[in-house]
Amino acid sequence: MMIRGSSDFSLGVSLAPPQIHLLRNLLLSWFEENGRHNIPWKVKADSRRLNPGEAICPYGVWIAEVMLQQTQLNVVLPFWVRWMEKFPTLNQLADSSLQDVLLLWQGLGYYSRARRIHESSQRLMQFIDSDDSSDPELWPKGIDIWMSLPGIGRTTAGSIISTAFDIPKPVLDGNVKRVLARLIGISKEDKHSLAKLWHFSEELLDLNCPRDFNQALMDIGALICTPTSPNCCICPWRDYCFAYSIKKPTSYPVKDRTKALSVQTIGIGIVFNREGEILIDQRLDKGLLGGMWEFPGGKQELDECIKKTIERELKEELAIDVQAGEHLISFEHSYSHKKLSFIVHICQFLGGDPQPLASQKCLWVKPSNLHQYPFPAANAKMIKALNKYLDKEKKILVN
Ligand code: SF4
Repeated sequence: MMIRGSSDFSLGVSLAPPQIHLLRNLLLSWFEENGRHNIPWKVKADSRRLNPGEAICPYGVWIAEVMLQQTQLNVVLPFWVRWMEKFPTLNQLADSSLQDVLLLWQGLGYYSRARRIHESSQRLMQFIDSDDSSDPELWPKGIDIWMSLPGIGRTTAGSIISTAFDIPKPVLDGNVKRVLARLIGISKEDKHSLAKLWHFSEELLDLNCPRDFNQALMDIGALICTPTSPNCCICPWRDYCFAYSIKKPTSYPVKDRTKALSVQTIGIGIVFNREGEILIDQRLDKGLLGGMWEFPGGKQELDECIKKTIERELKEELAIDVQAGEHLISFEHSYSHKKLSFIVHICQFLGGDPQPLASQKCLWVKPSNLHQYPFPAANAKMIKALNKYLDKEKKILVN
């Protein structure tokens, strides 16, 4: 049985029940022996596996699923553990400040996810309306409610509901998309293909054990059917896989050619006042890295030397006069859609009353207190270089 040939799935015809049954059984048998059964938010508090139909509080699942958007499991794990120590319940999260949430998210990237979690926590509290949110029965089970929360799409919502309540909702994250596209030979990534893949994921889903089935799909994508080197020889679906049959698994699905990222140069000023404090400002809540703190600066203009860029930007954005001095560090940092080249200089504060003209707040802080503010990853490199610089200065003063 070759899935694409026999089902003519590309014409929208569903698989026959025996085919579906066979694929489910093969996948679930593989999962029993080889699946990841110890993911901490998918087991009970004592690490035992959940029984079919048994519900758990969706709080930890929800946090993990949002963290997993654009981030891999091994990266997410330590962040999730720290999160659950700091905010073990929805009630504690809803009572926290956005700053505390961002501080905990620091280093995980895509900070809008943290802002949305914080906003969603207030909305979920309105729904649950209890001092103790640990009872799974209090939580929403409808996919529409979950999808109405900011940043929750169909696959995240489906994963939360099927994991927490064992309710049959299909998923289609990056791993699942790739496995199913190879299995039935869907090469494109357009809307039409996506609709077919959703349909297929729903059709395959085992209604008797949706939690295990979805996890099995995700696991096969993460462990066997990997993007560049699928291990087809140990795949339970090998004999039925279209991409394998034509010996071209990695040709499915076709990826859009990634455009070369343009590089923009940014001048940054580390401004000291007479008390040895440093000026930092907080980005506006909306947009990239919203709510995070950073050292002030901005884009270099054509034919402008970088020291002039820093002095001009700090005048325009904070209404202060500075003199850019010693070079501290230069490095490049890539974001999902752009690459920035940062050039950082130590600056002397000449005068003015700092005002957040392009940000929401600005503050003078002692270098030893910088860790109390959430900074994006690029600024963390600057802080490291700054600490080295301060150590060197101290030694010079002592000698
Ligand atoms: S046979 Fe290979 S390409 Fe096909 S689903 Fe399995 S691992 Fe992926």
